[in-house]
Amino acid sequence: MLNDNAEKRPNPRPSHDPTWSVLDDVAARAKRYLTGIGQRRVAPTPEAVAGLSALDVPLQDRPIPPEDVVEELDRIAEPATLTISGPRFFGFVNGGSLPATVAVNWLSTAWDQHGTFAATSPATTAVERIAMRWIIDLLGLPAESAGAFVTGTTVAHISALAAARDWLLSTCGWNIDTHGLFGAPPINVIASDEGHTTLFKALGVVGLGRSRVITVPSDAQGRMRADAIPPITGPTIVCLQAGNVNTGSFDPFNDIIDRVRAADHPTWVHVDGAFGIWARVAPKRAYLTAGVERADSWATDGHKWLNVPYDCGMAIVRNADALRRTMAFGLVRWPRCFG
Ligand SMILES: *Cc1c(COP(=O)(O)O)cnc(C)c1O
Repeated sequence: MLNDNAEKRPNPRPSHDPTWSVLDDVAARAKRYLTGIGQRRVAPTPEAVAGLSALDVPLQDRPIPPEDVVEELDRIAEPATLTISGPRFFGFVNGGSLPATVAVNWLSTAWDQHGTFAATSPATTAVERIAMRWIIDLLGLPAESAGAFVTGTTVAHISALAAARDWLLSTCGWNIDTHGLFGAPPINVIASDEGHTTLFKALGVVGLGRSRVITVPSDAQGRMRADAIPPITGPTIVCLQAGNVNTGSFDPFNDIIDRVRAADHPTWVHVDGAFGIWARVAPKRAYLTAGVERADSWATDGHKWLNVPYDCGMAIVRNADALRRTMAFGLVRWPRCFG
């Protein structure tokens, strides 16, 4: 039997009510933007950028009709956007925003779900769980892994490295949740000298320090040199890369992971897969990522290759319990609120 919501779903509101027609208006403006990005100039004109000052007015104390707000933004801010989702943008690694990905983004915004708990949003937590399982499957990562959708690869690094840090400390009998990081046993971090800047930022954020990282030289293609990895002398996080942002090269995962796993200390291998892990889904390119599935965590995002609008990142961790322990509030079970 259908539930009440499904049975009584009203027809979309009539579009002449201005409170609601603003949604149709935005859809039309967005469609015009997206269908025109191939013809737009990539960088805004200096006049368009200067024109942004028209928005910088004192806060008004009267309400403005929603359609006027949209009209003003579209007239003043839109010309000053950088056409990063267009086919003529070659700066940085950005994706586009496909109609399907924009549409579901809008729909989820309208639903405005509080996705922290299944109890506050049965629908979106189910959709997230299913989508994450598909991604883990698609990337050929270990089925026991858990993942979380975050804002991008940077936050995915932070999430996965925090789980790595906490798990490694737990192997030394140190509970970071209760005792914090001060006085904890040291954790070594190894990364290549070609690691992405966001990786080093994330290491700093999680208290592992950017400049205490042991950097390993890379070869002419920007791949970490397996033969240059120093001896592992204690609990260690090794950060590898699937897709060097400057050269497109992949670290030799099997060679490095063989060496790391031979160590007589607990280790955690983390992979920056923002740029290249999606090669795994391209049959002719998948070989580039051979062995990446042997790592412990992977950070990637949807707003590059997958053409999902910003922000969409994914943190995937083989030891699901480690990710949960680090990130959960400690509420293992939430009372069932929905029959
Ligand atoms: C883009 C990128 C990142 C950062 O990703 P965000 O989603 O922007 O946080 C990290 N590593 C590499 C290799 C990248 O290309």
